[in-house]
Amino acid sequence: MRAAALGATSFLSVPRARAARVRFTANPFTLGVASGPPRAHSALIWTRLAPSPLEGGGMDPQACEVRWEVAYDERFRRVAREGEVLAEPGRAHAVHVEVGGLEPGRVYHYRFFAGGAASPAGRTRTAPAPGRGDERLRLAFASCQQYEQGYFGAHRHLADEDVDAVAFLGDYIYESSWGREHVRKHGAGEPRTLAEYRTRHALYKTDRDLQAAHAAAPWIAIWDDHEVQNDYADDRAQDLDPGFLARRAAAYQAFLEHMPLRPTAMLAGGGVRIYDRHEWGALATIHALDDRQYRSHQACPRAGRGGSAFVGAACVERLDPALTLLGTTQERWLDEGFAAARTRWNVIAQQTLFTSAGHDNKEGARVHWTDGWDGYPAARERLLASLVERRLANPLFIGGDVHATYVADLRARPGDAASPVVATEFCGTSITSQGWQDRAEAIRRVNPDVRYAEARRRGYTLMEIGRDRTEVRLRCLDSEKRPDASIATTETFTVMDGRPGLRK
Ligand code: FE
Ligand code: CA
Repeated sequence: MRAAALGATSFLSVPRARAARVRFTANPFTLGVASGPPRAHSALIWTRLAPSPLEGGGMDPQACEVRWEVAYDERFRRVAREGEVLAEPGRAHAVHVEVGGLEPGRVYHYRFFAGGAASPAGRTRTAPAPGRGDERLRLAFASCQQYEQGYFGAHRHLADEDVDAVAFLGDYIYESSWGREHVRKHGAGEPRTLAEYRTRHALYKTDRDLQAAHAAAPWIAIWDDHEVQNDYADDRAQDLDPGFLARRAAAYQAFLEHMPLRPTAMLAGGGVRIYDRHEWGALATIHALDDRQYRSHQACPRAGRGGSAFVGAACVERLDPALTLLGTTQERWLDEGFAAARTRWNVIAQQTLFTSAGHDNKEGARVHWTDGWDGYPAARERLLASLVERRLANPLFIGGDVHATYVADLRARPGDAASPVVATEFCGTSITSQGWQDRAEAIRRVNPDVRYAEARRRGYTLMEIGRDRTEVRLRCLDSEKRPDASIATTETFTVMDGRPGLRK
């Protein structure tokens, strides 16, 4: 069988005749392989040719032919689909192949060949057919992997978990160097150009543990701020840089080139759409959101700055109902998705802490952080009202961004004990990025709906969704500062079918 690719197989099409005859003298598959969000009948597989990944890739500026195989077995004896695709210089010689004609609910293995070299093999899965397969979904989720602050040991352990899918919720790269006790260095300043963002992605992707996590399971990836710049909001940079949209476009392109996203994510006119819905048979829908690209500017920034702040009651602008975190188009899309959802569970996969998290600062004043949903409380209430009105089945919020685990019961009117619990939140800790334990404790102290808050441990979260219950396990490293650290389950939580909130 040949050429079973569906639709566009790379972001640009280049005539086949221009493909160069290449013979590699160094391994071009230095960044590993990956696969994208699971679908019932197709798989999105990714790699990038980069024999010198930290020196611009090391490829001649010509298209290069890449052969791919998708097999039923890990030895590739029974090949299900195979074909060829061009790796093009305009896309950093990355390839994104949508392989069609696959069977639902099964494991596949994939690999690539180019110029006499073979890639490592990856493993992916197709989703159960729509309306079928409601037994189990094992979903891992993770976020925030500042490269300098720790090793990616959490990814090495994640690769051994035999999960059906991984949701990565943002801060896949960091543009800036910050934090305590660095174990390694970016070796460059903040990226601003396409070439610089490509090199930053390549640096992160040279990590073997991160490669292992990609090779083990399909990923659903959304971004947060650090893929571009800390705390940016739509077109506004933290430093109010007037050239920010060009920087953002470069960062977005590098992200798309390096992540297993469908080529359709890049829209005509330079827009990029990463929010999407993913169904796992009759069991679960994952509504994956983009809370950076379309958001209103944060309320009450510091003088002469963009970005976030901790604000008190004097900041009435924070309460403005016109503020949106998702943008009106995405808000409508989400509401329509809630209305149409037919699965037993619904996972709202987004970037940051959703629960109300006002807390007292060191001076004893009640403050809210404006970069998360607390900065957009009217938008949060609209989202909660939508899921109540649409009678969304078993909503589970997952998030990242805050480098801590927060588990919360979500009420229709956050913080109002008279209002019913309508959903459950699991905001997961970071892979490496350092947290703020004093803040976690301050939030927990005054928010009884926050049932658990812990900022000292690094790791990922395992969510096992079944027919009658969802079990959530926090998987934490003993240290992110050692490459050989071990992992352990530090807490387990349960949500029962039909009963929003943690099981008492
Ligand atoms: Fe982060
Ligand atoms: Ca963030």
